[in-house]
Amino acid sequence: MGVGIDPVTMAEALARIEGLLQGGGPGQVITANPEMVMLARQDESLARIFQEAALVVPDGYGLVWASRVLGRPLPERVAGIDLFQSLAALAAQKGYRLFLLGAREGIASQAALTLQERHPELIICGTHHGYFSPDEERQVLDRIREARPHILAVALGAPRQEIWLARHQARLEVPVGIGIGGSLDVLAGQVQRAPRWMQERGLEWLYRLIREPWRYKRMLFIPRFAAAVLLQKYTGRRELS
Ligand code: UDP
Repeated sequence: MGVGIDPVTMAEALARIEGLLQGGGPGQVITANPEMVMLARQDESLARIFQEAALVVPDGYGLVWASRVLGRPLPERVAGIDLFQSLAALAAQKGYRLFLLGAREGIASQAALTLQERHPELIICGTHHGYFSPDEERQVLDRIREARPHILAVALGAPRQEIWLARHQARLEVPVGIGIGGSLDVLAGQVQRAPRWMQERGLEWLYRLIREPWRYKRMLFIPRFAAAVLLQKYTGRRELS
């Protein structure tokens, strides 16, 4: 569908990120979902960010479904929050410094406490909320540069976090940048994840719709995505014309 997703398992994704950390990067990791794929199909600059990313994993179950329908199956769903938590464990084990950027005031620091409780040896070299103005951005960038993280996890919502990383990561000289969506809210205990049976059946989106009904507008892309996948399967075409 014009957007490349790496056919990796969770373990392979982690190994690729470790390779980036060892090589010094910089590399961007995107945890993609159907909404981002639909956006990238309409927006050339976002499509370029996808192409230039070091690793794009299928966060949304819809991408795994699409890959099966289109005959090039992805091995499994690599949920962004699970990848991020495994990455935190890896960072703790190997001594990589982690910076958390995003979410409402106080959430990133609460998420940092949760991670540090789980991994006492983890070095979180800084946190900052995600509601800074364009004027405040310089200060945020300076804070990150001075903290010298190996991993910069950005939770500004997709695709803003991907665009932000593409613009700033190389100059910040951060080896690995990863967009983590709502993960800080979950780690801080503000948002509950769907029960496991729903996650396993690809129904996490339904759970979110029930808990956060105001998101329904953003979910209208789901039928459009399914239609685009089926159009491509049966006609080989990427666009309706
Ligand atoms: N967020 C932020 N700054 C903004 C907009 C959003 O820090 O200007 C945060 C928001 O508080 C949340 C995260 O971005 O913690 C991701 O939001 P969401 O759950 O909507 O994730 P998405 O589905 O967009 O990836």
